[in-house]
Amino acid sequence: MNIAVVGHVDHGKSTIVGRLLADTGTLPDGKLEQVRATCARNAKPFEYAFLIDALKEEQGQGITIDSARVFFKTPRRPYIIIDAPGHLEFLKNMITGAARAEAALLVVDAREGVQENTRRHGRLLPLLGVRHVAVLVNKIDLVDYSRAAFCALEHELREFLGGYGVTIEACIPVSGREGTNLAARAPETPWYAGPTVVEFLDALEEEPAPVEKPFRMPVQGVYKFTAQGDDRRIVAGGVASGRLRVGDEVLFYPSGKRSRVKTLEGFNVDPRAEAGAGEAAGFTLTDQIYVQRGEVACRADEERPSVAARIRVSLFWLGTQPLVRGRQYRLKLGTASVGMELEAVEQLVDASELGERDTADAVQRHEVAECVLRLERPLAVDAEIGIAATGRFVIVDEWEIRGGGIVREALPDPQAAV
Ligand code: GDP
Repeated sequence: MNIAVVGHVDHGKSTIVGRLLADTGTLPDGKLEQVRATCARNAKPFEYAFLIDALKEEQGQGITIDSARVFFKTPRRPYIIIDAPGHLEFLKNMITGAARAEAALLVVDAREGVQENTRRHGRLLPLLGVRHVAVLVNKIDLVDYSRAAFCALEHELREFLGGYGVTIEACIPVSGREGTNLAARAPETPWYAGPTVVEFLDALEEEPAPVEKPFRMPVQGVYKFTAQGDDRRIVAGGVASGRLRVGDEVLFYPSGKRSRVKTLEGFNVDPRAEAGAGEAAGFTLTDQIYVQRGEVACRADEERPSVAARIRVSLFWLGTQPLVRGRQYRLKLGTASVGMELEAVEQLVDASELGERDTADAVQRHEVAECVLRLERPLAVDAEIGIAATGRFVIVDEWEIRGGGIVREALPDPQAAV
């Protein structure tokens, strides 16, 4: 299970991760002692965060670390901590879905409270697609394990994250340095009855493949086969959600073309009865219709996606050049790729503490904004049902991913003929 650890610099992220490695018994034998000894030799106070650096220096420690990810395990299961939050690569991977975390731990220093990156990362959480969020109020030792200090900060965090639509499932008083409430319950916080960090993680259920949602399959390609004088076109793609059976009536969007499933093809297996979410599928149709990559296959008897050339979105911008009006970008959503322009910035959240500006013409690097985008041609999108393949997108400029986000609403096109 992937976990993202986010929060303001120096609030204790690396310390907490180092301590989790040590306290769950995931460290290679002797590692802790070795790092302690090195610190002692250099007359430097030991830090749990050094464990991460020490592991990074040794390529051979592939079981607990690779370039940007740390692994640890509890009796329930292994975890991957997606490290290096402030980094562009991390944000890109999260937004594009290349690395999706199931849960995020937002670390906040009990004394410093909410800071710039606490805000920025908090604002980002809904865009990253994490399903569970816990706040770790860290360095609780520095406020003498004060319940009042903890409660005040918890209240503030719930308010501000709630404003972004983020629900905090657990708010945990911790000390990375002392190990308080990480892997073991701490006597210093008898007033706290909630889970420890490990208990919180171990209680999470992995997200099941969304078979119960409407069927969506972004078309990857259409392949022509000639077998025994019989010309067959197989429509292929990854099933993002729902299920499909032989005989189902299918619709392709945005074209609106319609046919019925004649056969379902598997790879190296017998023809199948059903294709479900999470599987690669291919099917043939009863009619000779022309469909192409970029369309979304849906079922006629289920909820349909919207087809829109204007969309309201929440996006996060990573480019060094701002996202501006009057410039052409490419938007990629599912297997579709279309030209797009920024039509309007409706609301913008500055990453700094300056607060929210009402209007703006551009979205600067690291800003989160609610925008209207105009697409060069209509696409099939789902705003409400939480299917990444039809509800999340990235924006490409000069061949690089510069931003991404989620579709909030399909908008009518005022220029379209009524
Ligand atoms: P990061 O930038 O968020 O990864 O923060 P670090 O883990 O590097 O920690 C920053 C500083 O805070 C270090 O000097 C840590 O020793 C200290 N620190 C982290 N957690 C705690 C804690 O729970 N209690 C105390 N007293 N200090 C802590």
